[in-house]
Amino acid sequence: MKKKLRKFMISLFVMTIVFSLTACNSNNAHSEINGKRTIKIGYLPITHAIPLYIEKELEKGQSQHFNLELVKFGSWPELMDALNTGRIDGASVLVELAMKAKEQGVDLKAVALGHRDGNVVVTSHNIHSVKDLKGKNFAIPHKFSTHNLLLYQMLKQEGFQYKDVNIVELPPAEMPAALSEGRISGYAVAEPFGALSVAMNKGKVLFQSEDLWKHSVCCALVLRSDFIRNERKIAQEFVSEYVKAGKKAELKDEYTYESSSKYMKVNKDVLNLSLKWISFNDLKIDKSAYEQLRQYMIETGLSKNPPSYEEFVDNSLIDKVK
Ligand code: ZN
Repeated sequence: MKKKLRKFMISLFVMTIVFSLTACNSNNAHSEINGKRTIKIGYLPITHAIPLYIEKELEKGQSQHFNLELVKFGSWPELMDALNTGRIDGASVLVELAMKAKEQGVDLKAVALGHRDGNVVVTSHNIHSVKDLKGKNFAIPHKFSTHNLLLYQMLKQEGFQYKDVNIVELPPAEMPAALSEGRISGYAVAEPFGALSVAMNKGKVLFQSEDLWKHSVCCALVLRSDFIRNERKIAQEFVSEYVKAGKKAELKDEYTYESSSKYMKVNKDVLNLSLKWISFNDLKIDKSAYEQLRQYMIETGLSKNPPSYEEFVDNSLIDKVK
């Protein structure tokens, strides 16, 4: 009888362990196909995430030690929720949102840039200077965005402040229509939504991002720290392939268009225009650009104490890319 009870207790114990392991597995991003780790990376269908599309296409997402799974989101808050809860291993995301999450205790690291430059301020044709935007509606995608900081820079440069324009947050895809219908007089947002208004002749470029903020930081490739720590070899290979994909994207050729159009709906002329403004070369996050970003976040009141470069940026992977 005692033996039976012991056997029962042991099997109950084993079952509990198996159950908790299974439950644990369904809660995080870990999964394997053909013995290779599947890395889940979140993105929004924008020009700024092109290196991810190329990385996935180059080897059909099947690298030596991992399978790449790109997870598409409809909005930044949804993507951040998946990242913060560990449903994805990383993302190409507005750096300010990732910094805010880090500040709130989510252990993330920025391992590369999404792109360099590549943002524009678009206005309707009757806006000729910043002064003309006074009292008008101006759209940004999210308070925590480089687009908001570019707006701040543009106003400051001409002696204006946030209160001089009416700032509205709009989903990026709605901005071109809002501009053409006169509901807003201008906007700053991730591409290709600026190029869309310009290509349709519904708007014009008032400023390029580098006119307002040289070496601006916008999207970053962020990874969960536990992924980097526990699966370093895989994280290294993923970042190496990402950098290679960036160089391929920089060719801005037919391959870039063909690959990108599988992940984002875009007209060729619109994509080509937005590609003229952006660069995917040299995706390392340098300290001076990051410090400038931190400073703007403090100045605009977005954050009292954004994470330091040492806390948030991890160049150990990109530094090993040959
Ligand atoms: Zn960006």
